Amino acid sequence: MTKVYKFGGASVKDANAVKNVGNIIQLYHGNLVVVISAMGKTTNGLEKVVEAYFNHDEKCVAYLEDVKKYHLDILNDLFENKQHPVFTDIHNTFIEIEWEIEAEPTREYDYVYDQIVSVGELLSTKIVSAYLNEVSIKNTWIDVRAIIQTDNTYRNAKIDWTLTEQLVQKNIQPLFDKKEQTVIITQGFIGSSSELFTTTLGREGSDFTAGILAYCINSESVVIWKDVPGMLNADPKWFDDTKKIDNISYHEAVELAYYGASVIHPKTIKPLHNKNIPLYIKSFISPIEEGTLINNNTIKDESFPSFIFKMNQVLISIAAKDYSFIVEDNLSQIFGVFANLGITINLMQN
Ligand code: ASP
Ligand code: MG
Repeated sequence: MTKVYKFGGASVKDANAVKNVGNIIQLYHGNLVVVISAMGKTTNGLEKVVEAYFNHDEKCVAYLEDVKKYHLDILNDLFENKQHPVFTDIHNTFIEIEWEIEAEPTREYDYVYDQIVSVGELLSTKIVSAYLNEVSIKNTWIDVRAIIQTDNTYRNAKIDWTLTEQLVQKNIQPLFDKKEQTVIITQGFIGSSSELFTTTLGREGSDFTAGILAYCINSESVVIWKDVPGMLNADPKWFDDTKKIDNISYHEAVELAYYGASVIHPKTIKPLHNKNIPLYIKSFISPIEEGTLINNNTIKDESFPSFIFKMNQVLISIAAKDYSFIVEDNLSQIFGVFANLGITINLMQN
C-alpha cells in the first residue's frame, strides 16, 4: 500500500529539521510519495525578489542572495562531502533565476511570479532527496511538473484532473510495482501549464498537491506533518488552552479550513473525501503521537466548540432607504457587486 506524506516549510527549515524528516520516513516501510514545500520562509523571500524585480528595485539581487545563502548554509550543514553533485545542482538552479532577473520583465507579473517563486520547492526537494540518498534512504526525485497539469491561471492554477491522472498512471504508478520499498520525493505547490510553463496552485498549496496525488494513486492515507500535535479547536497563536481534535469529518474539517483554520489548505480535503482516503494531521516533533484523523466519521464530537480568529475584518451594514427590507432581490445585486470586486464575505446576517 502507498501513503502520501506532506512536509511543510517549517519541517525542512534547517539541517536538523531535514534530518528529522529522514527519521520520520524511516519509520514507515511501505511505498511513499513525499510532498515537500519550500524551506522555511523561502516562498516569502522569493516573493520579495519578484516584487523588487518588477519595481526595478536594486535590492532584488540582495534578496536573492539571502535566499541563496540560506540554502547553501543548510547544504553545508547536511553534506560533509563538499564535492557532492548536489552543490552544483543547487548552484545551477539559482543561475536560472539570476538570468531571469538580469533582463527586463517582458511578461505579466503573475507569470513571472510563478517562474521564480516555484524554484523554492525545486531547491528544497533537491536538497532533501540528495541528503536522504546520502544517508541510505533510497528515493527517487520527481519533477511534479511532469505530472500535475494545470490551466494557465498563474498564481492560482486550476488542475486538469484527467491529464494529471493519466500522467500519474504512466509515470508514478510503475515505480510502485517493484518488490522493494519505493520512496518518491516531489514538490508541493507547483504544476505545469499545457504550454509547459510552471504554474503555482496558490499560497500554502502543497497540502493540495498531497491531496491531488493521493487521489490519483489511490493512496491508503495522507499524513500532513506539522509543528502542532494535530488539528486544534483554535489557533494557539491567539488562544490559550486549545484542545486537539482527535477525529473530525471531512465536512467539518473543510468548514474549519475554509473559514480560516490555517492548519490545512481547504482544497486538500475534497479529492480525499471523494475517494474516502483518511487524512492525518500529525506532529513532526513527536511522530508517534496519534494526531488528528479526518475521515467520513459522521459521529459528531459535541464536547467542545472550535474557534476561528480573523484579523482585519470590516463590518458593512446595508439598509434600504425606502423603509422596505433587504430581500433576496437586493441580496443578489449586493453579492454581485462583491463577487465582481473579488471580495469574500465571511459572515452575513440578513
Ligand atoms: N511554499 C508555498 C507557500 O509557502 C507552498 C506551501 O508551503 O504549501 O505558500
Ligand atoms: Mg508553507
